Amino acid sequence: MCRKPINVGSQLVRCAVSTCNSGKIKLVFCSAGCWDAHLPNARHRDAYFTEEIARRQ
Ligand SMILES: [Zn+2]
Ligand SMILES: [Zn+2]
Repeated sequence: MCRKPINVGSQLVRCAVSTCNSGKIKLVFCSAGCWDAHLPNARHRDAYFTEEIARRQ
């Protein structure tokens, strides 16, 4: 998971693969490049992400 703080209202990248985006674990990243960096660890067969705007928790 990205360790940079993501401010409310800024764009974030969410891993859309179900193993990364189900249950309590929802992986979000500050950029597409940052998301790309987790792929070697995650071993997704079909990797894709969605972009969204960070909302207040
Ligand atoms: Zn992932
Ligand atoms: Zn990041």
